[in-house]
Amino acid sequence: MNTVIKNGIVISMDPKLPRVLRGDIAIEGKKIVSVGDIPAGFTADRTIDAENSIVLPGIINAHCHLSMVLLRNYADDLDLFTWLNEKIWPIEEKMTESQVYNSSLLGAAELIRSGVTSFADMYFFQPETCKAVEQAGIRARIGAPFMGDEETIEKKLPALQKLYDEWNGRDGRINVDSAPHAPYTLTPGALQMAIKFAKDNNCRIHIHVSESKQETEENYEKHRVSPVEYLEKAGLFEHPTYAAHCVQLNEEDLDILKKNGVYPVHNPTSNLKLGNGFAPIPAMLEMGIHPALGTDGASSNNNLNMFEEIHLAAIIHKASTGDPKAVSAYQALQMATIFGAEALGLDDVCGSLTPGKEADIIMVDTNKTHLQPLHNPVATISYGAQASDVHFVMCAGEVLMEKGVVNTIDEKEVIRRVSEDSAALMGEASSI
Ligand SMILES: [Zn+2]
Repeated sequence: MNTVIKNGIVISMDPKLPRVLRGDIAIEGKKIVSVGDIPAGFTADRTIDAENSIVLPGIINAHCHLSMVLLRNYADDLDLFTWLNEKIWPIEEKMTESQVYNSSLLGAAELIRSGVTSFADMYFFQPETCKAVEQAGIRARIGAPFMGDEETIEKKLPALQKLYDEWNGRDGRINVDSAPHAPYTLTPGALQMAIKFAKDNNCRIHIHVSESKQETEENYEKHRVSPVEYLEKAGLFEHPTYAAHCVQLNEEDLDILKKNGVYPVHNPTSNLKLGNGFAPIPAMLEMGIHPALGTDGASSNNNLNMFEEIHLAAIIHKASTGDPKAVSAYQALQMATIFGAEALGLDDVCGSLTPGKEADIIMVDTNKTHLQPLHNPVATISYGAQASDVHFVMCAGEVLMEKGVVNTIDEKEVIRRVSEDSAALMGEASSI
């Protein structure tokens, strides 16, 4: 099918094109054919009106725990280790496969509603999340979870390999990565097993690194080096890696990340909410490191709204450094699009509106009181737009949301199922 998206204000995120242009986008099947003018002789089977819309590449959420939406608003106002040890890990022990499936669908609908067409996930019962993602129609890099000691991993390894064999490459939209949880939750031997999994399957590594001060201090006590140095010495960075958080870094850590081509994933809401500090994003950008952007899970956020993350990424570093130029509106948008695609190894496929890439395209309705007048559409997106302003989402040429209606998920039914799951899981822990 040939599609034309007509007369939009296009922010392509392609450095070869003007930063903002008014024009049309031609799509043939899955692929973008042109941006700006329609090629002579191209006939459209379908024309989508983009009048009063900003047209952007699909947003990329590079660090998420999708089905943690089930634990939304359950444990708040706590530090990382109290939150994990006393609240999150004990309740996760009780979660079932069907609860992970239902909440993954709810999370996927929320992602689509905030214009996300690709995300990276790390959790357990991942085949259930894969099923939900397949139905939702978005792209995902699903992390095969590694946590614990060698004996625990040894038992789980056949299931993790099965996850890879069954789902990697499915529909051209789903890939499986190795996801060692963090340096502090794996024994050195177990960490090596996660690295070997990446090597054997030629996949990427998704890991949490240097999220909190306590974690970094304990790593020094235990291993006499920072978490980043520890992972480098373990050989982890010999594989393409995207590392969530990267908050508590020193200058040597930044050099190691740069030298090894590691992509940090900035999660501003989660870092602010858990009181973990400010990731050195301005220093990374200055050094030519390309940080991606993510929401983290909905229990430390408490939503999967990437427009909030773009906004925060663009403003918090201005305050923390005293420099209003620290992260620009455009750089925040790069983090949510093309840098995210690079981090996930998808920059040949998506991350910008570029002829030859797949059609992952969203539209933001500008006919809103809080967005007028436009003046600078990049500033409109980074400082003013809300997830609820997204009215159209396309992934690989498929329309997932149109006129604000999600086509691929029955949201009412999913909300009903998740509220039943929540009541069953939480029992008396729920305050309603
Ligand atoms: Zn996380």
